[in-house]
Amino acid sequence: MIPDDKVAEIRDRTDLVAIVREHVDLKRAGTSLKGLCPFHGEKTPSFHVHPDRGFFHCFGCQVSGDAISFVMRIDGMSFPEAVRTLAERAGVELEEMDSEEAAAARQARARRDRLLSVLESAAGFFAKMLDEHRFGEMAWAELSRRGVERPMVERYRLGYAPHSWDDLGGFLSRRGISPRDAEQVGLIVPRKTGDGHYDRFRHRLMFPIADTHGRIVAFSGRALEAPETGEGPQLREAPAKYINSPETALYRKGEILFGLHEARVDLRREGVALLTEGNFDVVTMAQHGFGNVVAPLGTAFTEAQAKLLRRFASTAVLLFDSDAAGRKAVRAAQPLLAKAGIAGKVVTLPAGSDPDDFLRDKGPSALRSLIDAAPPVVDWLITGAAEAAGRDPHARAEAIEALGPVIASIDSPVEARLYVERVAHAFEIRDLTAVRDQLRRGARGGRRRRPRRQDPAPQPAPEARARREPLPALESQLVGAFLDQPSLHATDCAEKVQRVLTSAHLRAIFSLTAQWAGARGVDASALLDEIPDGSAREWLVPRLARQTFEDEASAQRFIERAVPKLERDRIARETKRLKREMLEARRAGDDARAEALMRQMNESFRSAGRAGTEGER
Ligand SMILES: [Zn+2]
Repeated sequence: MIPDDKVAEIRDRTDLVAIVREHVDLKRAGTSLKGLCPFHGEKTPSFHVHPDRGFFHCFGCQVSGDAISFVMRIDGMSFPEAVRTLAERAGVELEEMDSEEAAAARQARARRDRLLSVLESAAGFFAKMLDEHRFGEMAWAELSRRGVERPMVERYRLGYAPHSWDDLGGFLSRRGISPRDAEQVGLIVPRKTGDGHYDRFRHRLMFPIADTHGRIVAFSGRALEAPETGEGPQLREAPAKYINSPETALYRKGEILFGLHEARVDLRREGVALLTEGNFDVVTMAQHGFGNVVAPLGTAFTEAQAKLLRRFASTAVLLFDSDAAGRKAVRAAQPLLAKAGIAGKVVTLPAGSDPDDFLRDKGPSALRSLIDAAPPVVDWLITGAAEAAGRDPHARAEAIEALGPVIASIDSPVEARLYVERVAHAFEIRDLTAVRDQLRRGARGGRRRRPRRQDPAPQPAPEARARREPLPALESQLVGAFLDQPSLHATDCAEKVQRVLTSAHLRAIFSLTAQWAGARGVDASALLDEIPDGSAREWLVPRLARQTFEDEASAQRFIERAVPKLERDRIARETKRLKREMLEARRAGDDARAEALMRQMNESFRSAGRAGTEGER
């Protein structure tokens, strides 16, 4: 747990505008700044940043928050990760543990940083070798065969691992990196006989694998044709097409998606991820303008990867091979996507072609049309299974059974029922019960059926409904004046405002703003922390993104005009209440009480008159 005051300190010392500017081109608009929202696609700017309040809000997609939430969203980080990142940036020390623990944590962090820098050095070396090594051209030839040009090589930091047993090892040791560290990140391998190490990656096109923060944690190396030379190492057998780093302290393959860091801004903006099978497809597709593309690495798509992806996109379009293995991969991916809350779609490429072949033959716009027309994964699986099963009754029964887990993973009962009908239709079976039984058999054999969420959405409590009522307009404008100019709390108009506010929520916001009377502006996040969900918050969030009163004088003029009007309203309400009570007292025969109420009412009339003249002055 990071203590609240630390979080506040980090927020204070973080320049939100500088962070946003790394992703958005901001232009000044009054007191705030605006630009094109990085979280949804738009052509006219509706993304506002208020520097003094450390607050952003998009009027298009309603996303808002402070520097921490911006980093969480744009980089797909958890809250503690974002806080740590910003703490490092702002130079705030986080002492969250006792000294022994802290020392251990520091040591672990130092070791991790050291290992990361080894990988970073290796990436630099491979990139250099791509241009400088005499066989680097062979890697370039492979890249140009795929149409990949230098900007993409730089974006993904591709490189070349030299045709040698110890070029990398030698380079690292000249840099003072211990063989132990290089071995621990999987770059060099101890020799089986005798001492020393040899390079794991030799004569390969190198793809660095980065985590969500963009730190290189592993490599994937693609085999190249053997050079025509008598010298160099003897490659005894045909090398594996791809070699990946082994799993290490920094790298667990099922938890990383290749290209995620590079794709993150496009993913956020489009909300759609293109999921391909291989890292080369990722680079090729990015080369053709598909920036929102990622791939699972050296493994089938995993649950952890689905969860990770969900932090960036709500829809995934699968571009897997159209063979049986590809279909199996889609079928396996579907429940994971469903569980993570990702809508899956499938692009069917012509038999035997991968995205790379397709792009070369048909071009990017043809692929774009396929992506746009991609059917939902469940539809695709049903149709594909029916086609593959043909007319053989046994094959058809088995195909339906295999669809069982897919249908069972659908959360909505209505949707599930519609899909059962679609299965029946695709397999041309009239008896729905038989289809359902066959599906159930498959679901039982495979994944356990998850409990359905059938209970209706809870009805809001009466008070929650009341909270949804819109705030009184003039009162909210008044409170807005204090949001814009909290220094007004030091003047005597503050007291008058306090008296005329009828909305408890606005009164709360109003008194909260008093704490920033001496500051440059209110702290939007700290303020919002105190305001529960409901109409007050719905009003406050967009209001915080913009400033209506640019200076104290204009705010004050507005207050002077608005307060008397509200004062009159208040008195009118009060008079009405007294009158009702007086009549009730009369009817009950309580003359003394009626008299007293009458006097109060006259008093109230008189002050109404005063307020009236005050307002006209
Ligand atoms: Zn937006």
